[in-house]
Amino acid sequence: MANKELLRRKREQLIEEHGVIYLDNVSKAYSTGSPALNNVSLSIGRGEFVFIVGETGSGKSTLIKLLLRELKATSGSVYVMGNDLSRLKHGQVPRFRRNIGVVFQDFRLLTDRNVYENVAFAQRIVETPPSEIRRNVPTILATVGLAGKYKAKTSELSGGEQQRVAMARALINNPSILLADEPTGNLDPRNSWEIMRLLEEINESGTTVVVVTHNREIVNAMKKRVVTMKKGVIVSDEEGGEYIDED
Ligand code: ADP
Ligand code: MG
Repeated sequence: MANKELLRRKREQLIEEHGVIYLDNVSKAYSTGSPALNNVSLSIGRGEFVFIVGETGSGKSTLIKLLLRELKATSGSVYVMGNDLSRLKHGQVPRFRRNIGVVFQDFRLLTDRNVYENVAFAQRIVETPPSEIRRNVPTILATVGLAGKYKAKTSELSGGEQQRVAMARALINNPSILLADEPTGNLDPRNSWEIMRLLEEINESGTTVVVVTHNREIVNAMKKRVVTMKKGVIVSDEEGGEYIDED
């Protein structure tokens, strides 16, 4: 059997056993201070929707950065889609990241370009043929509720609309996993709900969704799996969980 096929089967087996996201005893220490993550183990299965909550500084963003291979674990292993991220070579990182969509609190759009360009850009960097880009961008903009806004400059949009553009950009390459780090942190309650509903819809269509949030009301209403972090460790992990009071 070809080596490539063997590797593919090995990845598939890891996903079967441990999920599409698997942290095995992971610690991450920055050069200063106490470890940001301390022996964290976590499995997230294909198609799950998981909230990650916890006070500021508890290690949530560090966890997201490890999953994107923006950071490497100090010890332990991080597997995403069956790939051991410590073994991923520098040159393999862009290809690996194509499978993951990301959304941040501060949107991170190209502010001098219009909505269409912000989304199309994500397809150009993965060398999608122009004819496909012209077909895909309007479809995904309609999905996020921005069908009529494709010519607008992103700087002229409301926060809720900007986050929708960021969602379209994160989704256009059909990622298996969507990671969102405080996606509603800069939004009012109505827009926060709309973004969360959109994340839920995306999850219902099969994408694994991981959402870091401080939004207690939404977490308590949505009845999803809730992983709570405190000082670099997971202190609770509950199906249909609630936002636990920080004391
Ligand atoms: P959260 O997202 O839950 O607020 P972070 O993962 O950002 O937490 O941070 C966890 C801990 O790691 C905090 O104590 C923070 O100060 C520290 N930290 C985060 N990033 C860095 C960095 N680049 N250098 C040093 N320490 C950092
Ligand atoms: Mg953070």
